[in-house]
Amino acid sequence: MSLYLRPGNLQEALDGLARGPVVVAAGCTDLFPATERQELDGPVLDITGIAALRGIESGPEGWRIGATTTWSDVVRADLPPGFDMLKQAAREVGSVQIQNAGTVAGNLCNASPAADGVPPLLALEAVVELASASGRRLLPLAQFLTGPRATALQPGELLVALHVPRRAGQGASRFLKLGARKYLVISIAMVAVRIVAEAGRAAQLALAVGACGPVATRLFAVERALTGLPLGDLAGAIDPQEVAGALAPIDDLRGDAAYRRQAAAELLRRAVAGAVEELR
Ligand SMILES: Cc1cc2nc3c(=O)[nH]c(=O)nc-3n(C[C@H](O)[C@H](O)[C@H](O)COP(=O)(O)OP(=O)(O)OC[C@H]3O[C@@H](n4cnc5c(N)ncnc54)[C@H](O)[C@@H]3O)c2cc1C
Repeated sequence: MSLYLRPGNLQEALDGLARGPVVVAAGCTDLFPATERQELDGPVLDITGIAALRGIESGPEGWRIGATTTWSDVVRADLPPGFDMLKQAAREVGSVQIQNAGTVAGNLCNASPAADGVPPLLALEAVVELASASGRRLLPLAQFLTGPRATALQPGELLVALHVPRRAGQGASRFLKLGARKYLVISIAMVAVRIVAEAGRAAQLALAVGACGPVATRLFAVERALTGLPLGDLAGAIDPQEVAGALAPIDDLRGDAAYRRQAAAELLRRAVAGAVEELR
């Protein structure tokens, strides 16, 4: 039988990680389906007993989302409208049972191109905090995710929290996901949109698309093209060619690349229209 560690504090967990390779386990909703066996390989470090890693705190600089914060915790948290897209994504991660166990950090560390948490967290300008026995470092989420199933996490490191700057809580936001059915489904494409308005115009936009490339991505060129436009013109001004050019989807059994590009542009149009409605 494998060694199973469930420390009650972070230092013990980091010391455990420093001693050699371990499998970090949070909600296990990605880990267990991936093993297709009854036991995980190697020593297991269960981080769910570390109280300091769970929960969302608000401070002068912004918000700290602890690594073992579950999707249900996100849904229940008192957060400004800039986070609505993250709550909407949380409600679409699997089922309520999955949302009760699955964590935000687990979603990021698993690094599926179809991870629903990534587009909203990109649009919230999230920064990842990584810790090891020898120190801590911060990385923008876009630099943490390096490819399909690949992250910048080094041996001995744990993702301990996400930080969202206070400015990113502003505006109205929306998350939309397309799947082959409404619930319990892997995304064919999903989008997250956050818009800050000033005097009836879009002062700032954050647009992100997932499941349409090796990693989810912000659409900076589309954001620039829409900035400054009257709110009523935004949805119609989204250029599907420009959206398509920013994506690199694959063909798979859920949808081909051309369909994904079209779907992403349409989802963006609807999400922008929804956020504009909210702002009015
Ligand atoms: C039926 C079902 C439906 C699902 N539906 C969806 C869906 O609709 N959308 C979606 O995006 N996902 C979905 N998922 C996937 C999964 O539920 C989420 O990705 C969830 O957020 C994973 O979190 P977890 O805590 O369970 O991660 P775990 O399974 O515990 O861990 C996942 C990976 O991350 C590593 N890890 C976890 N936490 C840390 C940490 N703090 N530091 C370093 N490494 C860490 C683990 O070692 C492992 O490699 C579904 C899963 C199931 C089983």
